[in-house]
Amino acid sequence: MYDVAIIGGGLHGGFTAWHLKQREPDLKVCIIEKDQTYEHAASARSNAGIRVLFSQEESLRLSQYGHKIYGNFEELMGLEDQPAHLSFSKQGYLFIANTAEQAADMTQNYKIQSAMGAEADLIDATELKNRFPSLNVSDITLACHSPKDGWINPGQALSGLAKKNRALGVVYIKAQVSGLTKSQNRITEAVTETGEKIKSRWFVNAAGAWAPEITAMLGFDIPVRPLPRITFYFECRENLEPMGLTIDGRGCSFKPEGGGYVTGHTVFERAGAFDWTVHEDRFQSENWPLVAHRVPAFEAIQLKNAWACHYALSTWDGNALIGAWPGQPDNFLMTTGFSGHGLQHAPGAGRAISELILDGCFTTLDLTRFAASRVAEGRKEPERGVKA
Ligand SMILES: Cc1cc2nc3c(=O)[nH]c(=O)nc-3n(C[C@H](O)[C@H](O)[C@H](O)COP(=O)(O)OP(=O)(O)OC[C@H]3O[C@@H](n4cnc5c(N)ncnc54)[C@H](O)[C@@H]3O)c2cc1C
Repeated sequence: MYDVAIIGGGLHGGFTAWHLKQREPDLKVCIIEKDQTYEHAASARSNAGIRVLFSQEESLRLSQYGHKIYGNFEELMGLEDQPAHLSFSKQGYLFIANTAEQAADMTQNYKIQSAMGAEADLIDATELKNRFPSLNVSDITLACHSPKDGWINPGQALSGLAKKNRALGVVYIKAQVSGLTKSQNRITEAVTETGEKIKSRWFVNAAGAWAPEITAMLGFDIPVRPLPRITFYFECRENLEPMGLTIDGRGCSFKPEGGGYVTGHTVFERAGAFDWTVHEDRFQSENWPLVAHRVPAFEAIQLKNAWACHYALSTWDGNALIGAWPGQPDNFLMTTGFSGHGLQHAPGAGRAISELILDGCFTTLDLTRFAASRVAEGRKEPERGVKA
């Protein structure tokens, strides 16, 4: 009998367990994970960017907390005999506006970011060219640069967190949950594919893009769907200046990675089902024209690798779904739908779920804005500027 059983051992499940054990070391917590190599988990295949460039106070605060936890990861997750390593490249984030509408959103967002102490500069094309000479700025209306943001190594984060959790007494069960038993409006047990029954007082759905499969076991659907995304790794012939994680308003992103760059392009209409095919042809037809337009030196590149993964896209408003679902047992909580920003928000979301379990409400940061119950209320909370 566990106190808390978490379905999914990615960063959301892992940080939920970690926060629970920080507060209540004797709590019996397990993480049920079907693939402990995390080969297909978004947490392992993420771009792993952490930015303060949000329009909503809660999202910005969640990212600031992400900065704090990932920034102190080695100290927080290190064990006496095994230090934890996490590379955190603080090379900055760059948002580029190409239209008057995007520039207006960026200006509004910047006011909020400044008021909240986020370090960011609103810059014009001339200043942008000074900072990043490789960029084509001919069609740039405005940009926002946050020099202290960056990206982490997600594999190191996953393994460091899992090691620490195990040392704290979290039990990792390698199994696929295939059913949940409900009795008198409580979930009493998770049933695995091999028929094992795992009893617990609380259950947390931290199954990422698979979260709707878990709610389907209880007979309800949530507006979260897998959105296939292919990441392409390429190398450039020229040596360019250090660049940040760049999000271009024309619809692509890129960042330095190892000796080259990774790029991705989000097509929201593709959300719906898992697609693990690595469509290499899309590099030529979709990604390359966009990145080569922004960085002319990217005309001479070599595609070296590509892999597929999925956002847990919130089709409701692009934002997270946290907590219980109205009409369903209140000992069943979810943390999902984080779309393209869930790695940086995983520490804060894990803390929020631990508070719902231990305190019955959000205590450090009020995340009512992202409560899963807003779907029943008909309330949408989209970010301004970035779609998901
Ligand atoms: C290409 C890409 C780029 C991204 N870039 C960024 C970024 O720059 N910054 C950012 O903040 N976020 C980014 N994200 C989003 C971020 O990676 C995710 O939001 C986050 O990692 C989700 O973590 P999770 O723990 O919820 O899900 P996951 O990491 O997917 O973990 C879910 C786990 O649940 C397990 N599971 C599923 N079903 C079951 C079951 N029935 N039984 C047992 N286990 C099960 C899976 O095996 C998996 O390990 C990106 C995502 C992608 C795909």
